[in-house]
Amino acid sequence: MAILVTGGAGYIGSHIVDLLMRKGYKTVVADNLTTGHRKAVHPKAAFYEGDIRSQDFLNSVLCREGIEGVFHFAASSLVGESMKDPLNYYNNNVLGSLSLLKALEAHKVKKLVFSSTAAVYGEAKSQPIREDAPLSPASPYGETKLAVERMLHWWAQASGARFVSLRYFNAAGAKASGEMGEDHQNETHLIPIILQAALGKRESVSIFGDDYPTKDGTCIRDYIHVEDLAEAHLLALRYLEDGGESTVLNLGGSKGISVKEVIEAAEEATNKYVNVTIAPRRPGDPAELVASSEKARLMLNWKPQKTSIRQIVEDAWSWHRSHPDGYHKL
Ligand code: UDP
Repeated sequence: MAILVTGGAGYIGSHIVDLLMRKGYKTVVADNLTTGHRKAVHPKAAFYEGDIRSQDFLNSVLCREGIEGVFHFAASSLVGESMKDPLNYYNNNVLGSLSLLKALEAHKVKKLVFSSTAAVYGEAKSQPIREDAPLSPASPYGETKLAVERMLHWWAQASGARFVSLRYFNAAGAKASGEMGEDHQNETHLIPIILQAALGKRESVSIFGDDYPTKDGTCIRDYIHVEDLAEAHLLALRYLEDGGESTVLNLGGSKGISVKEVIEAAEEATNKYVNVTIAPRRPGDPAELVASSEKARLMLNWKPQKTSIRQIVEDAWSWHRSHPDGYHKL
């Protein structure tokens, strides 16, 4: 029996595929390669190029491979882009997930780990954010992820399936060896942008707003190393394999780091000065998002290892420095 990873050619998905392969799981990747990279996928994982909105595509994968559990990453995942093109987010994220669940139901696959997000909370009233905090997404991205969480809840109840929804805070870093990392066509994420500036591929970094009600006026986020995220996914799968009930868990490092602090850590890690300009706030960005990850630590016995921003940026730097053009020139 095998594990299906939708979106397994993406940044987080590819790190989970790599971990599953190292742990001896037979791993099957389904990805339409709109934003993912074929070269990011472990060479020994089975790979199917296609779109999960197609039942024919999913049925062909599920008929050919005996799938017993699914990691579902395939989605659009940018807050800013979702504000400009909300319908595409509903199409890709909600319809894609609906299509996947239909196919899983037909093939009696009953274990799923879902890639959700801290964006489901929106502007939280208190920090750190627990899973029972009010859900009030401030963007179509968060809204569509929440819609899928609700769909999973009712699907699980009706079908006897079980799921773990993992609400990530800010995924960052790269495999320590530097051979895998973050590569988006039009990069919008803070750490890769800073490192591209350090490499001389950008003139400067814009800080989106320095007038937030935070310690230095810039947004506060909770950065979590992608390898720690991968480990949490594996633990979530094992939890379901052991008969665990459906649940929702935050995954973060539980430390609030400002945009300015990330820039400082990157300057130290790279030993380079980065030009910074102050730009207007980015629509859809809450001032502060910090996780309480107690529930994941207790229920999964998850112990994140690389929790300092310096370590996270150093690993990201290993990837960017050795792959200035991402996966393209491999
Ligand atoms: N950010 C920034 N300049 C950039 C990109 C991001 O100031 O060029 C800020 C953004 O406003 C947010 C934080 O950095 O507060 C992290 O943004 P990112 O896009 O990396 O992740 P998100 O929080 O949107 O998931």
